[in-house]
Amino acid sequence: MYGSELSTERYLSLIGELASMGTRRVHVVGGGEPLLRKDILEIMTSIKKYGMEGVLTTNGTLFSEDLIREMVKLNWDIAMFSVDGPVADVYDDIRGVDGSFDKVYSAMKTLSRVKAEYCAVKPLLHIHCVILNMNFMIIDEMIDLAHDVGANIVTFDKYYPEYEELILRKEDVSITLKNLQKAYEKAQRYGIYINVEDFLSLWLKPSPNTRCYWPWLYADIDPNGDILPCCFSHDVMGNIKRHSFRQIWDGEKYNELRKLFKKKELPDFCEGCTLYPGLINRIPLGKVLHGLRLA
Ligand code: SF4
Repeated sequence: MYGSELSTERYLSLIGELASMGTRRVHVVGGGEPLLRKDILEIMTSIKKYGMEGVLTTNGTLFSEDLIREMVKLNWDIAMFSVDGPVADVYDDIRGVDGSFDKVYSAMKTLSRVKAEYCAVKPLLHIHCVILNMNFMIIDEMIDLAHDVGANIVTFDKYYPEYEELILRKEDVSITLKNLQKAYEKAQRYGIYINVEDFLSLWLKPSPNTRCYWPWLYADIDPNGDILPCCFSHDVMGNIKRHSFRQIWDGEKYNELRKLFKKKELPDFCEGCTLYPGLINRIPLGKVLHGLRLA
């Protein structure tokens, strides 16, 4: 769920509808930064009121101690920080704003301190890092950072080419793999959950049985109310300003898409996805890696 253009009332009624349909988790993210919404706490409170799991993704720059305290009291489930570099110079370079690292570092430290104060396990502190040609050489240090700030989870993801200059070069892949291995070993030592095994098994050794169930399990709700089947898609299934979520979810367009997935005739937007290699078994691995611009 992305935050910005829909009214508070529409979000609250949507959350009620999602709960009534058996939704288990609502992930609050932003096209920009979800904490820009003044009603963010009201939205989060409503998600928890219905007993759903809540995940908030933030760049940490607007994460105040007051909000952190409220999240701890709410028993909010996961605070996910987008951190693309383990040290200030790399992070600030990627973000293009000096001082950004210090803000996210301080927010993560504050979260851990407040949790300790309340003897709270949640929100789990999750660091998410996209691997780029500007950070691959030190991605194992993400685990040192995670240990320092008290993170519980570190996940890596590949970069979906938007800016050519950020794409990992072919000659950097072997160093990246070594650093992922180092990251894995460090995480084991510190007791931090890490997704390296899943990431690599999908990236390097896709199982022929891998399937994507996104069209049955997940929807993206954009700030303007558009419903998309996946964050990589621009194929709008409907808009919640005109229809209820259920009407769209059970509607003809969504069901046509599901039929395609059942037949393994995937839409174009799936081509850059980490899950993709396992979805269409006939594409040789090397070609897929080239398609992912990682090798
Ligand atoms: S892009 Fe990936 S996650 Fe999204 S629907 Fe396609 S295969 Fe599934």
